[in-house]
Amino acid sequence: MSATPLRLTARWVLPGDGRALEGAAVVIDQGRIAALETRPQGPATDLGDTALVPGLVNCHTHLEFSQLSVPLQPARPFTDWLRSLIAWRRSTPQDVPTAVALGAAEAIRSGTTCLADIATPGWSAPAAPQPHPRLLAFRESLGLRDEAHGPQLAALIAHLSAAAGTTDHENPTWSAGISPHAPYSVHPRLVAALIDLASAQNVPVAMHLAETPEELQLLRNGTGPFVDFLSELGVWRADAIPPDTTPQFYLDQLARAPRALVVHGNYLTENELDLIAARPQLSLVYCPRTHAFFGHTPHPWKELLARGGRVVLGTDSRASNPDLSIWREAQYLAAQSTGVAPQTLLAMLTADAAVALAGETADFGRIAPGFRADLTLLSLPDPARIWNNLFAPASNPVGTLVGGRWLAEPPVRTGDTSDLPPAAL
Ligand SMILES: [Zn+2]
Repeated sequence: MSATPLRLTARWVLPGDGRALEGAAVVIDQGRIAALETRPQGPATDLGDTALVPGLVNCHTHLEFSQLSVPLQPARPFTDWLRSLIAWRRSTPQDVPTAVALGAAEAIRSGTTCLADIATPGWSAPAAPQPHPRLLAFRESLGLRDEAHGPQLAALIAHLSAAAGTTDHENPTWSAGISPHAPYSVHPRLVAALIDLASAQNVPVAMHLAETPEELQLLRNGTGPFVDFLSELGVWRADAIPPDTTPQFYLDQLARAPRALVVHGNYLTENELDLIAARPQLSLVYCPRTHAFFGHTPHPWKELLARGGRVVLGTDSRASNPDLSIWREAQYLAAQSTGVAPQTLLAMLTADAAVALAGETADFGRIAPGFRADLTLLSLPDPARIWNNLFAPASNPVGTLVGGRWLAEPPVRTGDTSDLPPAAL
């Protein structure tokens, strides 16, 4: 954080509300945005033909797999991919803190200022002084069998207590969330207990849901590839899930939480999309390149947007995605000619993602006075046409500020540099 106010100007400032302000300036003081000036009102650092946008938010990842250089195979069937994941975990020495730090560093380089991570045993935030994005660590809970429930809840409560001791609103740190893993791995009673805890503690929830047809089959009639997979692991319980269960049961549970991320939702029905759209505490996390990796049927994200629902983006992990760049997820979507406006895509990465994680009172995700000075700097292939080319392949994050401090420095600066903060890296 800079000790004195910092004024940054760029060819474009995109505050995250649909506007594009040419030549505007952002004034940063004490880690927060003090002012957004349509023209610099004093000496400014000119960042040249770039765009300053709210810091990018990745709403779903598993940093513990950040050491993987390529996604695991086979991608299909999904249960075989899960077997590969478990085999990799068992064959590779697990150093979760190192993997988290590696993934956090990659996220910084790709313009990410906030990450929603799924935390498993051994998770810890990168230790100071290593800079990292803001982390929301959703502690994963697993257990179809009754005897798993007590230990899972105890571990979760320890995670929530650890987070309570770290909160510092002005510095990059981490906060806690709760993650019932998925319908096929968590007993409905444990799901309910976890949501009760989320409500009592006012923390967000994330759950993988409606991810594969095999999951829907298991819920419907307790058959299919998941029975074999879970039996191999010795965790299957035939009476855990009542017959004719659908994702709607879990959506109803998630809606009791203060905020909840419905992760993937690849196979949500029209009724379930209606239900999400009607409940603003629910957000759908679409992971575009992971969705493509697994070869799913077309994702219903635009159907949810059309209903007024909130769609945000995630990278998922390096076990199913080539990298952890949330910007590349949006570029991937833009290249599909989706018909979705670039302003909407940018909001899915910023303002809407902040509301999904932190609620309507979120103080990040926009460039506005009082908000955290979490910003991403983008190179622009064609600065004259900001919206048309915002997500072009040559448009890339080149600088990352968290709390008013550069964590990844822009490579070239022009203009007055007298008020540059000290390099963080
Ligand atoms: Zn995931």
